[in-house]
Amino acid sequence: MMRFLLPSILLFSSVLLVSGEEKVETIPQSVWSTGGTKPKSERMKKHTDGITSIVIHHTETPNQLPSSEVSRLINVQRYHIEDRGWGDIAYHYLIGPSGKIYEGRDWHYQGDSGTKYDLNGRLLVCMIGSFTDRLPEKEALISLIEFVAAKMQEHNVDSENLVTHRMVASTDCPGDMLQQWFDASGKDSMEKRYEGIKRHLAYYHTQDGIPDPTGGLYVHNENESPQAETLVVPEHFTSRPSMAVAPPLAETDDVLIDRRFRSPDRDCEFAVTIVKIGKLGTGEYDRLIAWRPMQKGEIETSTESIEKEDKVIQRFGITSRNGHYTRYFQRSYSLSKDEDALAILWEFMIYGPEAHEKWKQAYAEFKASLDLSKL
Ligand SMILES: [Zn+2]
Repeated sequence: MMRFLLPSILLFSSVLLVSGEEKVETIPQSVWSTGGTKPKSERMKKHTDGITSIVIHHTETPNQLPSSEVSRLINVQRYHIEDRGWGDIAYHYLIGPSGKIYEGRDWHYQGDSGTKYDLNGRLLVCMIGSFTDRLPEKEALISLIEFVAAKMQEHNVDSENLVTHRMVASTDCPGDMLQQWFDASGKDSMEKRYEGIKRHLAYYHTQDGIPDPTGGLYVHNENESPQAETLVVPEHFTSRPSMAVAPPLAETDDVLIDRRFRSPDRDCEFAVTIVKIGKLGTGEYDRLIAWRPMQKGEIETSTESIEKEDKVIQRFGITSRNGHYTRYFQRSYSLSKDEDALAILWEFMIYGPEAHEKWKQAYAEFKASLDLSKL
């Protein structure tokens, strides 16, 4: 038996859970362009039939900002209105290196371009900077994926109409590096994220901060399994939504059990999630069931990790800073390549030491009641 401690960052910070229904935040032009050049609506025309396509651009301005993202935006807007003679900044949305998303031209109006292509029905999304020799900041790419996916859903844009500028006109825009990223994984990430939003799935970011191209899988309580019937749930406990995040799985029926229950006095919760992981790789991040990240004010109070034969078992505790509640987790996953190899997560959450005393026996019985041999 080998014992070792894992730093807490491995247990929690690697996974960032974002709700599938969260609105992507944008900064209105009225906020960033105070004192900027006023748009001239008489120079613009509306789309005739709504938005049917999304086109990705770069501003091709120096990556070194003049003083801020906003000052860059104001300069570009002034240039487009005063020098190019357009009605407003050419793009409908712009994403800065910080990942902030700015509203440009009112999207009901068609955009503008120095190149020839049909702008009717096109939503123009522009990355601030030049991406011929380098990629945008990680934060900017994450915002681009989230935002484009949300707009695909809002306007019902299909994937063949998600393009970059050079795919529809004669130009180098949005730069070779950004184009390569779009072709290699970016477009795929946006489509997967779009699928995820449609299915109300949450999303998780992998360790390097770039969204998982599978779109992640948020395990809902609706994934009921007859095997869960061996669980002994104390009387009057009520069902609660799950907070587990499964590894990327090919099919949702690989989720065998995903249950969470709350005691009638609301002082304790029991949860268990079990997924089949045999088809995945043997790396830790392929196999472990993750949790929502630690919340503000939560402290990790205990960590233990054990490797035993073909299994890794981790136990950890988290307490709120005011001691109001403690969550105990036990998570294990098999290293086996066997089709039926499992990952399991248990949680015992209690509000205060009295609740711990009151419910620990019931929790032990709850855990013992599950017949793993039936899975
Ligand atoms: Zn462009």
